[in-house]
Amino acid sequence: MQESYSGYKNMKYNPQKIEKKWQKKWKEDKIYQIDLDKAKKPYYNLMMFPYPSAEGLHIGNMYAFVHSDVYGRFMRLQGYDVFEPIGLDGFGIHSENYAIKIKEHIKDVSSRTEKNFYKQLHMIGNAYDWTRTVETYKPNYYKWTQWLFLKMYEKGLAYRKKSSVNWCPSCKTVLSNEQVISGRCERCEAQVEKKDMEQWFWRITNYAEKLLKNLDWIDWSEDVKVIQKNWIGKSQGSSVKFKIKNLDYILEIFTTRPDTLFGCTYMVVCPEHELLSKFQSKIKNYSDIEEYIKKSKIKSDLDRTDLNKDKTGVEIKGLMAINPVNDKEIPLYVADYVLSGYGTGAIMAVPAHDERDLEFAKKFNLDIIKVLKTDEECFTGESVSINSGFLNKLETNKAKAEIIKWLEKKKLGKKSINYKLRDWCISRQRYWGPPIPMIKCKKCGWVPVPEKDLPVLLPDMNDFLPDGSGKGPLNKVKEFVNTTCPKCSGPAERETDVSDPFVDSSWYYLRYLSTEFDNQALDKKRLKKWMPIDMYIGGKEHSVLHLLYSRFITMVLYQLGYIPEEEPFKKFRAHGLLISNGAKISKSKGNIVNPDKYINQYGADAVRMYLMFLGDMKQGGDWRDNGIKGMYKFAIRVYDLIGKVNSKKSDDQLVRLLHQTIKGVQDDLIRLKYNTAISKLMVLTNKIQEHGCNKEILSKFAIILYPFAPHLAEELWNALGNKESIFKEKWPEYDKKLIQEKTLQLIVQINGKVRDKIEVKTNISEKEAKKITLSQDKIKKWLGNKKPKKIIYIKNRLINIVV
Ligand SMILES: [Zn+2]
Ligand SMILES: [Zn+2]
Repeated sequence: MQESYSGYKNMKYNPQKIEKKWQKKWKEDKIYQIDLDKAKKPYYNLMMFPYPSAEGLHIGNMYAFVHSDVYGRFMRLQGYDVFEPIGLDGFGIHSENYAIKIKEHIKDVSSRTEKNFYKQLHMIGNAYDWTRTVETYKPNYYKWTQWLFLKMYEKGLAYRKKSSVNWCPSCKTVLSNEQVISGRCERCEAQVEKKDMEQWFWRITNYAEKLLKNLDWIDWSEDVKVIQKNWIGKSQGSSVKFKIKNLDYILEIFTTRPDTLFGCTYMVVCPEHELLSKFQSKIKNYSDIEEYIKKSKIKSDLDRTDLNKDKTGVEIKGLMAINPVNDKEIPLYVADYVLSGYGTGAIMAVPAHDERDLEFAKKFNLDIIKVLKTDEECFTGESVSINSGFLNKLETNKAKAEIIKWLEKKKLGKKSINYKLRDWCISRQRYWGPPIPMIKCKKCGWVPVPEKDLPVLLPDMNDFLPDGSGKGPLNKVKEFVNTTCPKCSGPAERETDVSDPFVDSSWYYLRYLSTEFDNQALDKKRLKKWMPIDMYIGGKEHSVLHLLYSRFITMVLYQLGYIPEEEPFKKFRAHGLLISNGAKISKSKGNIVNPDKYINQYGADAVRMYLMFLGDMKQGGDWRDNGIKGMYKFAIRVYDLIGKVNSKKSDDQLVRLLHQTIKGVQDDLIRLKYNTAISKLMVLTNKIQEHGCNKEILSKFAIILYPFAPHLAEELWNALGNKESIFKEKWPEYDKKLIQEKTLQLIVQINGKVRDKIEVKTNISEKEAKKITLSQDKIKKWLGNKKPKKIIYIKNRLINIVV
């Protein structure tokens, strides 16, 4: 046996050669292809598929993918049939904006980037099932994205509405609320404006309560759950109806604090409120108000609600509201700190108990009436009601219940729940997406394209640039627009908007399971077997985008009977951000790290291990060009271990270290702390290098190395004379007894006489032995207040205190 390894002694680590060899072999042996119908222990290991916004993937993408792959390989060694698919989220504004920037047609760019992305994903050596890729821009995929729209429409969950929507002046399209981040476009970072437009919406708000409630039990990163919870923004309170003096109009508001109604001294409506346009003629200063509305249109929601910004507003002269609890006439204002999207777009203002209301009241000299017992100028907590008629002396909770009872009796309001979550605006005035499968007929109105006519193919066009007219580029293709009505066969026109790219990605993980079917989107049997997804790893930046939309779509498909559970991702873990040499990786900074260069130079295994070594996944890491060299050296040392194999019986210490390492790496893998796992592998490597080891030890070492450095592990495995792939192995079991530190009885003498025996760990240091001995109660008693003159320690045997 020994001879067979000796050949390696003179060989040098050549990752380029090894990695190509094994990747080819794995592909030939189809080891990553899973029989989805026959798999006995299905485990669905998913990573967020990439969206091309450049020619290729950067190191940050690889960071996320390798994290996921390591976990998948670990689960394979646990005996699971791990399905690990990959694809491309190629439709959408990201890809399209990139094509526009480099002045090429999006179709050409897409086919080129697809090749490059897939080449890179092969290079990194992840365990993908390449027979089941999905690309969102291929008709065999978007046919079913359109099908999803039809299902939503059938269920009454897709509808058109004219409202004030987010408009990106740079992307020249509307955006959903979730795609506006700090007032800016999520795709291009331009300042988002408001525009009144009629758009397609999906009724995610129907699922607000379920989306919220299930957060209690899904196993997700806590911070992502908190973000979703806040975004859904549930609050309990009451609606209250205010009459407008001399008008036949009820101004309804929502408040979480109906107990403070007696303190309401004015009301505010948002600039978009219908009250303003409806009663133009009654408003004495309408031109001032019109001016104000115009100004607020160019502000983002964030600017409008920023606590640090000066509150602005205009009194609505000529109109007065009536406080229903005391019939007092109170002034009305329009102010943009009230948003149209929240509640009813109008509020009752209680300046003594709301900071923004107080600021506004002071600025406009409005009454401030305290209705809660407090010494503070602006108290927003709970207390006892004062100045509140029949609510006086009641504690907040009781006062709330009492006032709601009163309002309900008088039909002036009722207990209600409010959510911040708004319906999902899904139409986009862009080219690179699936056309929304709807037809507008003068006679029949909106008619869905019959399922048998799907896909509605995206027509070829050279000039696909958005023009900002509010109509998508497809509007210019007359052959596309003009069609016949599926209902009455009369002349009709197609919808020219495409759907939000986030629709494409809201269901891709379901399609992976049914890629071979052209006659159905989803195979129910497969979904039953494989859903929900066991482990999903991805970025936190999608907390209220992809991750919320996917949950919504899954809930709908669950109700339609496609999916066995209403949540898509049983377990989700968010990874932190990868930075490079201390700075955020971004194109504008010009510090994009291309993984290809490093893979070519140091091999995929070194790159993989270095990425995993950078820190705790949750925290992210800092890629340093120098750091990768250190990891490459480690890979060489690992490779050289094959020359250290001997046939001697391994010493106990090494065996114990091996078992400790098996346990340690296993625990770290489960907790996704790959950095400490690699440290442990390094310690073991050093020990083997010093003392050599037998075949059995190195075999186990190779298996626990495998999730991180699969090529290198396979090479070691093969060199040890194994014929089958290491991929078929099981994670080694560790010996519980063996990993426990051994202890011994330390004899304690005072002036040469045995006074005690204490249990200590084997090989403890002199310092430790002294400390433990002197802290024993028995010894303290013997010593009294005498100070030891000298302490003699004989390792692992005795300690003698001379007094
Ligand atoms: Zn934009
Ligand atoms: Zn018709």
